[in-house]
Amino acid sequence: MKSNYFETYAIHAGYDNREHSGSLSPPIFQTSTFVFPDAETGERRFAGMEEGYVYSRLKNPTVCQFEERMGVLEGGEKALAFASGMAAVSAVLLGLAKTGEHILCSEGVYGCTYGLLQFMEERFGISHSFLSMESAEELHAKMLPNTSLIYIESPINPTMKLVDLEMVVNTAKEKGIPVIVDNTFCSPYLQRPLELGCDIVVHSATKYLCGHGDVVGGVAVGRRETMEQIAHTAQKDIGGIMSPFDAWLLLRGIKTLPVRMDRHCDNAEHIAVLLKRHPYVESIFYPGDPDFPQYNIACKQMKKSGGMISFSIKGGKEEAQELMNNLQLIKIAVSLGDAETLIQHPATMTHSGVPEHERENMSITQNLLRLSVGLEAWQDIWADLEQALHSLMKKEDQAIS
Ligand SMILES: *Cc1c(COP(=O)(O)O)cnc(C)c1O
Repeated sequence: MKSNYFETYAIHAGYDNREHSGSLSPPIFQTSTFVFPDAETGERRFAGMEEGYVYSRLKNPTVCQFEERMGVLEGGEKALAFASGMAAVSAVLLGLAKTGEHILCSEGVYGCTYGLLQFMEERFGISHSFLSMESAEELHAKMLPNTSLIYIESPINPTMKLVDLEMVVNTAKEKGIPVIVDNTFCSPYLQRPLELGCDIVVHSATKYLCGHGDVVGGVAVGRRETMEQIAHTAQKDIGGIMSPFDAWLLLRGIKTLPVRMDRHCDNAEHIAVLLKRHPYVESIFYPGDPDFPQYNIACKQMKKSGGMISFSIKGGKEEAQELMNNLQLIKIAVSLGDAETLIQHPATMTHSGVPEHERENMSITQNLLRLSVGLEAWQDIWADLEQALHSLMKKEDQAIS
């Protein structure tokens, strides 16, 4: 199948119904093992001399279809599917880094990635440091002789700060250091780091790729040789693989990724404008806001501004919690990228495990909330936010008078 359009690949890549009795929807290969026609075939497949399935931890047809689709959508040679986003992140980091090496990270990474980096340092002697990644000079200055990987989130959770991927790639290339990007917040529809020269993309497929809040999964995409090396250690020997049913749900979810992302982005645009104007909102963190410090980077490397908005309110933890409790349509939950609009409080939820001083460095304050704008009518999303903010203000007015 050949196309010039992402939308068509999102529906068709990796699956040919003619290979499956014409079934429009792909069958789920719910099997642990595969029968060899004879002993010699088994021998050849184990020796890697013949293509074919052996055991589902190594390869499964439904999971392969998902991997193939993701490879096409990210513009990479090979994708590997995992049981969770963290299984994908840990597979890439543990699969590539060696004891004594150093990983340079963007300032602010997903809470559990932060935990994994701590663990790798304490248990395996793989060190890391955080860096704002605002300029090539800074990057050069902070690269150590043993720096072997660069790990970036852009947008950074939850402050939405962006890293100029092209700038990092150009600097890293001079030293031959691979660049890994967690592309969860954008999905390949909004941002394709491999096309900008990055080496590996990782995702929590749990979020926009799935889109319906019913799968926990992960995926990593990159060059064939690197991915095969990671598959050999992290998939085969560590074993955090994706189940066939989850791969099927993701194949189904991805068909609507472009239309869902368009709506997430449009809704977020409306909500961001209204939040920014609201007297009880202190500031908004949203790449589509022309006043956002890295608005230009967003225009350069993202197709649209995404569906995530963080905002701080006038007050502290108590007011933030009260605001969440006042909401009716919007659900209080971590995760993101679902049809339902979700809100969470990073300081006490997703980033509660990050030490306070680090959290402050990342600008994760007690009055910060993160909103994953869903697919409901934006008018209803706003009405819910507005009434919740209004109740807070009314209470404050009463307290003053
Ligand atoms: C959710 C998330 C992860 C972890 O993914 P899981 O599927 O929950 O394991 C990693 N990175 C980012 C940016 C995330 O949002």
